[in-house]
Amino acid sequence: MKDLTLLKSMIKGDIKENELMSKHTYYGIGGPASIYVTPKDLTDLKQILCYSNKYSIPTHFIGSGSNLLVSDDGIDGIVLSPGKALRKIQFNDCNVFAESGVMLGKLVRGSIKRNLSGLESLIGVPGTLGGALVMNAGAFGGEISNYLKSVNIMNMEGDIISYNPNDIEFSYRFSSFKNTEFIISANFILKKENAKIIQEKRDNANKGRKTNQPLKYRSAGSVFKNPKNYAAGYLIDQVGLKGTKIGDAEISNHHANFFINHGKASSTDILKLIELAKTKVKEKFNIKLELEIQMMGFKEYQKD
Ligand SMILES: Cc1cc2nc3c(=O)[nH]c(=O)nc-3n(C[C@H](O)[C@H](O)[C@H](O)COP(=O)(O)OP(=O)(O)OC[C@H]3O[C@@H](n4cnc5c(N)ncnc54)[C@H](O)[C@@H]3O)c2cc1C
Repeated sequence: MKDLTLLKSMIKGDIKENELMSKHTYYGIGGPASIYVTPKDLTDLKQILCYSNKYSIPTHFIGSGSNLLVSDDGIDGIVLSPGKALRKIQFNDCNVFAESGVMLGKLVRGSIKRNLSGLESLIGVPGTLGGALVMNAGAFGGEISNYLKSVNIMNMEGDIISYNPNDIEFSYRFSSFKNTEFIISANFILKKENAKIIQEKRDNANKGRKTNQPLKYRSAGSVFKNPKNYAAGYLIDQVGLKGTKIGDAEISNHHANFFINHGKASSTDILKLIELAKTKVKEKFNIKLELEIQMMGFKEYQKD
């Protein structure tokens, strides 16, 4: 790995070497990232991206790690997170501007407070706005892309590009952003709505989440996408895997599409449960489960 003295002299933000990714994932799993960087501002961000581009250092973007499974072997190269930076949020009538490091919950609550409708069903979805846009996060009938007006990204050359929603493909837990595009901010146009109607939708989402999800435990939310016409959790339950444990990882008894780390689970424990669920569901239903969680640092893992 390159000597970091140069990069350290170029930015005001934080650089850590051999930083354990278990500290930055909701699973609490993941070995060391060779370099873990959080920029202080957009100037820093440009310096980091241009540096990794110039020296061809593999670079991975993360938000708050709520949808990530990181290998116990860690990640070679740079892991770049907005950290505590990029947290500006501005409301102007129905227009909302937010930077990618803003926690989605703050954006949702801020909108609800101003009687702005469009994001309330996303209440309780963890993570940053950047992660939500890449994943096209959704819940209880709403998706983050629904009221999007534009997104600004920075590419590896340090150029800022503004996209409107037609430039990007969004579908269920999918967006077409490239993994070389760091999301820096987004604009939304929300709808003025009666407070009672917004609160009802928020309360329904809140209740559904608390009833259906094992929120007391460490997880990355749904492991698999729901295949057409089925809930992945139902299929995993039907093949008898609820409550199955490998090491310190478990397929939740509460919601079979949530895999839990009871404290000491390794990425291998979770991977074995993933393989088991895929195999059994394929055998019984001839349905191929597709991962929703994002994998980082696995050199040999084949998604299919
Ligand atoms: C208890 C629980 C419940 C959940 N419920 C839901 C739910 O109801 N609906 C739902 O959709 N998801 C849900 N999730 C999954 C997760 O919260 C979302 O996918 C979330 O949007 C991820 O945000 P993050 O900031 O943590 O992103 P991360 O997990 O850090 O990253 C996710 C992806 O986004 C990319 N990324 C992150 N930030 C940037 C950036 N600034 N620029 C470019 N790429 C970036 C990463 O490379 C990665 O591919 C849940 C997770 C948990 C733990």
